[in-house]
Amino acid sequence: MAERKIYDLIIVGGGPAGATAALYGARAGLSVLLLEKMVLGGEIVSTERLDNYPGFPAGITGAEFGQLLEQQLQRHRVPVQPVEIEQVSLKSETKKVFFATGEEAARAVIIATGTVPNLLNVPGEKELLGRGVSYCATCDAAFFRNKEVAVVGGGDAALEETLFLSRFASKIYLIHRRDAFRGIKALQEKVFSLPNVEILWKSTIQSIEGEKKVEGLHIQQEGRARFLPLQGLFVYIGRKANTGFLGDELPLDEHGFIVTNDQMETSLPLVYAAGDVRRKGLRQVITAAADGAIAAAAAAQALAVL
Ligand code: NAP
Repeated sequence: MAERKIYDLIIVGGGPAGATAALYGARAGLSVLLLEKMVLGGEIVSTERLDNYPGFPAGITGAEFGQLLEQQLQRHRVPVQPVEIEQVSLKSETKKVFFATGEEAARAVIIATGTVPNLLNVPGEKELLGRGVSYCATCDAAFFRNKEVAVVGGGDAALEETLFLSRFASKIYLIHRRDAFRGIKALQEKVFSLPNVEILWKSTIQSIEGEKKVEGLHIQQEGRARFLPLQGLFVYIGRKANTGFLGDELPLDEHGFIVTNDQMETSLPLVYAAGDVRRKGLRQVITAAADGAIAAAAAAQALAVL
């Protein structure tokens, strides 16, 4: 039987953090394998526009950014496998990752699996998913042209997606549980200036109603029950780390994020985390990419002295 290849470095997740780690790892001369279950670029691919990444003065669409990352990885001959990791074994010297059709092994691993949206957990949410309930305005806004929709949340994501939706929907209710947003002032000011946005402060969604599609929301607004007839609900109430596949191989913080030091090292030797999946202050493409570079450089340095 042919002996299984042991890579120097396996990277789980092909968003900006994982793709950058792969690039830096390959350029450092490591044998690298990148595993990505969807498309290279990760979530950024479904973002309409990346406006705050240096070097793109006119901005760039998320899809284009993903394609450029892919081309760059091809140029550096980084192998990419389109698999979803279900389990890992990280504590021994040879680290393994397992997926439905097999397994791969490496001397070092970087976890860069990002986050997934939090659910509201109210009646109707799961039943009407894809039928008016969405977690991606950039993907679905065009279906709501001249319709009435709601956005729930008060962070940057809710504000940014409200701005985006305002170009399609005739009316947007922005539902927030407190009386102040936590998103940045610049976004707040833009949202306040939109004529088709009504902000419902101190309001919570009780249920999402509809037979085949969303038809309305039962909400509590400042303690009073109200029904909002509308066709769509966009949920932006934060995100949680994609770490289910780690089992108890790696300790997580109280919110489920991986804790690292500033070299992206976790508590296990030669296991690193990069990007949104780790505990950090600013979750942006640029900080994810920076994490990936640091993690790969740290891995290359550690492997060189082994
Ligand atoms: P976030 O900043 O954690 O905000 C989540 C919002 O949802 C908060 O307003 C929170 O209310 C509300 N919320 C949480 N659980 C809720 C529930 N069960 N029911 C109703 N409301 C609930 O999350 P985010 O907006 O997704 O942003 C995540 C990170 O990505 C942030 O670091 C953000 O800066 C970054 N981001 C940046 C940009 C950008 O710079 N362009 C864009 C998007 C995201 P409370 O305020 O009451 O807690």
